[in-house]
Amino acid sequence: MKAIVIGAGVGGLSAGLALRRVGVEVGLFERRRDVASLEAGTGLTLWPNAMVSLRKLGVGDEIEAGGSALELLEQRTWRWRELRSFDVGGLSRRGAPPTVNVSRAHLTGTLLGRLGETAPRTGRACAGFAQDDDAVTAAFEDGTQETGDLLIGADGSTPRCARSCSGRRDLGTRATPPGVASSGSTTNARHEVCSCS
Ligand SMILES: Cc1cc2nc3c(=O)[nH]c(=O)nc-3n(C[C@H](O)[C@H](O)[C@H](O)COP(=O)(O)OP(=O)(O)OC[C@H]3O[C@@H](n4cnc5c(N)ncnc54)[C@H](O)[C@@H]3O)c2cc1C
Repeated sequence: MKAIVIGAGVGGLSAGLALRRVGVEVGLFERRRDVASLEAGTGLTLWPNAMVSLRKLGVGDEIEAGGSALELLEQRTWRWRELRSFDVGGLSRRGAPPTVNVSRAHLTGTLLGRLGETAPRTGRACAGFAQDDDAVTAAFEDGTQETGDLLIGADGSTPRCARSCSGRRDLGTRATPPGVASSGSTTNARHEVCSCS
């Protein structure tokens, strides 16, 4: 089986790694021109649900080693009056994985490292796709095409693929035809790999 994953953000990289771990051939396509730009950004808080998924992908230890575990979360006014605090470390003391602060570079770099030869093919902006009973074919702005058994639209918050999958702007998964999965973003938790907040 061959999967076409559109977008190499955290969602696409994680989906690619998950599929590869179960023996699916993966073609990962990213519109950005170079892999280094995928690592740009500041920090991320990876909550226990995200860490559960990253552990399942086999990268939990590496992510934890390069980040720092969060113990206490406090919200304060500008005068430093405490609004609320949350004992984040208590979750892990009760058996959940830690909540980990990492740089985006570390998270993305770790996923890219594990993908190895399945590295994203950059400079490949997906323009749309077509499917029949046997296969799905993605068309790219450079005029090329890729055919696979399933397509995952992991193209982020303005997702061309996911939107054309569902034919709706809200990316409803029920409207998604067979053979096609859409992943709006990790924040709406439509893919299982790295859901958050
Ligand atoms: C300021 C800020 C702080 C945040 N903090 C946190 C946090 O602390 N913890 C947390 O869990 N989340 C956090 N988030 C949310 C998190 O960053 C996103 O949920 C996550 O990056 C979404 O990942 P994604 O792979 O779904 O989409 P994206 O990261 O948007 O990746 C989509 C990829 O698809 C590519 N692409 C788009 N269109 C095409 C196309 N047509 N063809 C090919 N490629 C395409 C894009 O170039 C991009 O690389 C934060 C977000 C922001 C903005």
